[in-house]
Amino acid sequence: MVKSNLVIVFLCICLLCCPESLLAQDMNAISAIPRVDVHSHVGSVGRMEHYVKVGEALKDQYGINLAVWIDLNFMRQSDGTEEEYLYAAGTRYKGRFLPCINDFKISDGLRYPPEELAKWQQKGIVGYKIWVGVSPLIDRPANDATFTKMEEIGMVGASIHISQPYPTSWCDDPVKFWEAHNAWERVLDRHPKLKVVNAHMLDHFNSDEQLDYLIYVLETYPNVHVDLGARFQQFNRMDRDKLRSFMIKYADRILFGTDIGGQPAEGKYRQVAESYYRAFQLLETDKVVKGGFFSGTETRGLALPAGVLEKIYYRNAVRLYPRVKDVLKNLGYDRND
Ligand SMILES: [Zn+2]
Repeated sequence: MVKSNLVIVFLCICLLCCPESLLAQDMNAISAIPRVDVHSHVGSVGRMEHYVKVGEALKDQYGINLAVWIDLNFMRQSDGTEEEYLYAAGTRYKGRFLPCINDFKISDGLRYPPEELAKWQQKGIVGYKIWVGVSPLIDRPANDATFTKMEEIGMVGASIHISQPYPTSWCDDPVKFWEAHNAWERVLDRHPKLKVVNAHMLDHFNSDEQLDYLIYVLETYPNVHVDLGARFQQFNRMDRDKLRSFMIKYADRILFGTDIGGQPAEGKYRQVAESYYRAFQLLETDKVVKGGFFSGTETRGLALPAGVLEKIYYRNAVRLYPRVKDVLKNLGYDRND
């Protein structure tokens, strides 16, 4: 009896004196959360094995599971037929690459008419990527039939890119910046059931005031979500506490993404893995991190709770994109979702 009491006392002392070891345990649990990169530009069969090698480097170096890439560049860097891409993505790589039809130039109208969308969905396409940029063209009446069809069949608008960061060299004209956003709001008003992930935090991620507008959008349009692609380097442009509260409050609406593109070069897999690691550290720890996914200035991480990270890393993707749930399950990430 005395002995067991001593054991309990010893354990209590350990708990009081060793918060680091508890923290380490938590970080191990966080490392195990599978991650879906919803904003990637893979584009071809030949590149897939290089992305998988980046995933292996992350696993080897940090024990982190980068499981799935939503590929916004389906067939844009074609090195084979559609069938070859879909076979490689779906079968050879077990669904780890989930393709989106895409439209990177809408000045002459949307590339995919409504009558084609269901056919693409049946082939395994998980969303429709549209790049708009600093332009009000998304609001052209001719686009409405396609958006109506997407509402009907539940096809997600994947990383739809509206405007550009303002004020920067990407966009230094406030009138044009707002014209693009106002045009997008008019589309959302007409298509309330359209499920959307807007790219780059909707590019209202450059100041506390812009974050307030993003909050307004998320409050007004319940089917709008945002991805973090290429915005880790902007975390330090907002008040850290305000940004952290935002990420926690809107955890159901934020998805992990990087905007990775091209082919990770042989011999550079660890370097790319470190880019991912920096992005993860910014979300997971309160350490000062040396820049975002694409470098940038030193920024203190947000130390988000595990439940918030789970939503950002994969739960929201499971809810929004078809097939993600099954792919994760087949890869062995059976987390009772
Ligand atoms: Zn992108």
